[in-house]
Amino acid sequence: MSRIVVLGDGQLGKMLKHAGMPLNHDVLPQNLDSESLIAISPNDILTVEREHWPTTAVTDHLEDHASQFANLDAIRVMNDRKTQKATLDHLNISTAPWAPIDQQPATELAQQFGQRFLLKKRSGGYDGRGQMWCTAETIIDAEWQGTSIAEAAIGFEEEVSLVGMRDATGNVFFYPLATNLHIDGQLMATFADLPKYRSLQSQAEEMLTKLLEHFDYRGVLAMECFVVGEQLLVNELAPRVHNSGHWTQAGAHFSQFEAHLRAVSGTPLSQPKTVGNTLMINLVGVDLDPAWYAVSGSQVWWYGKEVRTARKVGHININADDFSNLADPASTILSTMPKPYDEVLDWVKELLAI
Ligand code: AMP
Repeated sequence: MSRIVVLGDGQLGKMLKHAGMPLNHDVLPQNLDSESLIAISPNDILTVEREHWPTTAVTDHLEDHASQFANLDAIRVMNDRKTQKATLDHLNISTAPWAPIDQQPATELAQQFGQRFLLKKRSGGYDGRGQMWCTAETIIDAEWQGTSIAEAAIGFEEEVSLVGMRDATGNVFFYPLATNLHIDGQLMATFADLPKYRSLQSQAEEMLTKLLEHFDYRGVLAMECFVVGEQLLVNELAPRVHNSGHWTQAGAHFSQFEAHLRAVSGTPLSQPKTVGNTLMINLVGVDLDPAWYAVSGSQVWWYGKEVRTARKVGHININADDFSNLADPASTILSTMPKPYDEVLDWVKELLAI
């Protein structure tokens, strides 16, 4: 049995704890604001459920144990978009054209990146926060200077993500590419796996393998990409379990949470087998509806948070043995939900070509 201490105790930490049970691992998510510090013993393994953290007594205490902390160097590179993008460039992995922002006026950035471009905060942004769409006329406030990067707008067909894992001896394994729907920068749904993107799987695996090996990484690493024709452009990396991998809880013979725990603890990994097709729907600002449990193939994960607009409070995985059997349960569940879930339903219908 390993004791695995997790920096953070949000839903990802809790789902790691849940996945630790059959492995007989004692997984201990840490509340970052807690006043009491856990005593770290030499055999403990430290990992994260988030890549950005404030300086608190708890985070200081965990960072003091750097040698037991899985992937700490990789996390420090990836938690800043500037160093993350520079690493991707260094490894010749394609991304959206980008540049760090200093004093450049929007007119100059528009010349470099096109009429419409995007500013992204170097750290701390998530779920579409910390982003601003700009044109040559935008006045860029001092708050963005030195703290963000500019990126060209990509006219992508679809967004996909690859969740990969690397074990202590350097073996790498991957789930199939999943297709994601974002609305206003926030992930709303993920579908795995779409036959039309299977031809991109080896390209994606090559890209992620380079990163896993570059960082001598141990654990789960997620890579979000834009699909442009036959090419993948990396949008973002997450050095942890990722929302776009939640479908693996119902759609694979072991989930990304179990994969991460096995990799960091030295428990062997194997190629995860997928089971049918899975649609993951994020529950954003919606109340729990017991009717969801009555839908065959559905698996509801409720995080126990107070429901607020734009707040992620749970997710539902709907699994079916094939495409045609997903349409009905997906529309039964999605039609109980308010706007913008009508857009999610349209997206699902288009993917399933109903
Ligand atoms: P991010 O915070 O980088 O994951 O971005 C959130 C979402 O904003 C992405 O999933 C895309 O839907 C959109 N987005 C981000 N970067 C770009 C870009 N360069 N061009 C077009 N859309 C983007």
